[in-house]
Amino acid sequence: MKSFRLTEKEMNAMAERIQTPFLVTSLDKVAENYRFLRTYLPRAGVYYAIKANPTPEVLQMLAEMGSHFDVASAGEIEALAELGVDGSRMIYANPVKDAKGFQASVDNGVNRFTFDDESEISKMADAVPGADVLVRIQVRNNKALVDLNTKFGAPMDEALDLLEQAEKAGLHAKGICFHVGSQSLSTAAYEEALLLVRNLFDEAEARGMHLTDLDIGGGFPIPDADGLAVDLAAMMESINHQIDRLFPDTKVWMEPGRFMCGTAVNLVTSVIGTKNRGGNPWYILDEGIYGCFSGIMYDHWTYPLHCFGKGPLKASTFGGPSCDGIDVLYRDFMAPKLSVGDRVLVTEMGSYTSVSASRFNGFELAPNFIFEEQPEYSVRLSDEVEETDDVAI
Ligand SMILES: *Cc1c(COP(=O)(O)O)cnc(C)c1O
Repeated sequence: MKSFRLTEKEMNAMAERIQTPFLVTSLDKVAENYRFLRTYLPRAGVYYAIKANPTPEVLQMLAEMGSHFDVASAGEIEALAELGVDGSRMIYANPVKDAKGFQASVDNGVNRFTFDDESEISKMADAVPGADVLVRIQVRNNKALVDLNTKFGAPMDEALDLLEQAEKAGLHAKGICFHVGSQSLSTAAYEEALLLVRNLFDEAEARGMHLTDLDIGGGFPIPDADGLAVDLAAMMESINHQIDRLFPDTKVWMEPGRFMCGTAVNLVTSVIGTKNRGGNPWYILDEGIYGCFSGIMYDHWTYPLHCFGKGPLKASTFGGPSCDGIDVLYRDFMAPKLSVGDRVLVTEMGSYTSVSASRFNGFELAPNFIFEEQPEYSVRLSDEVEETDDVAI
């Protein structure tokens, strides 16, 4: 599957109308990603983890396509509620919930929660009595970019006790969930987790507890700057096969975050300054680490950078606009000579990017535009695809 990418011509046409920096989101691409999940992992319903990218147009479209949503705060519940999404289509998958989040759940009819510790049981029993709950278990996976199993997940041997306690407290023990870690390149991590959870389901049955729901979390990878080492369709098909084999009668869910929008967004940014540091070219962009490039810090990510100049390539450094020395984005990046005003395109900028951008130093958040609503989209539909000879990492 190809990521969404503006051509040089489209980028320039948009930048003639709109001041950089700005983001361009392709809803067609998000829709394609959603359908991909449904096609290759048909056994699992989708709870889109909106923390990855809560762009209202994206949420609206996914809601219309039938997606459910994974939320973690009052703010996320309310953002969806404002778009008309009912709480019955949300799972509150933050194992530790606060008072505001419970209130928003009650106000909007959210009735499905995850937890991973005893202390959460009485909180849920008080705030949302009778709610459906899933215990989150800890799973191991050293092939994920972002580990989520240090902070989250009950030890395997405590999971059923926790569900029993939840039942006793008047909650409805529904099932088990896990998250193998974000950008997981390992199918085995899912398959091992599924085997372990199958045992827990059987043990629960023996203890007189009938579990009906399994939630396999997120973690599905997107191409990074080096490409993608796994065959995603094969990965999902094999997870689906394992689900069919081990959980023929269970209601299964997934919580994709990164996968949904990661490949659907481009950033258009401009060179606003150049420097020569001991013979090495430096280029200062109008978007930086405190903006959409925040994922370099928080998400340990490198985004493909595309320069369009001609001429010999030189190891170059790219920095953001702020007055902080940490605001350096790329080092030793092979780029042609660039000048002030040159535009640079950054692809695969859709997940864990704009959502963690700040206004540090007074720089505004980069605005977002929906590609399919731009004139360039209709041109693309009628044009032949243009060849680009840019440089990319
Ligand atoms: C962040 C998160 C997700 C999404 O994870 P991705 O790796 O982006 O797919 C899913 N479930 C929970 C509980 C999360 O916290």
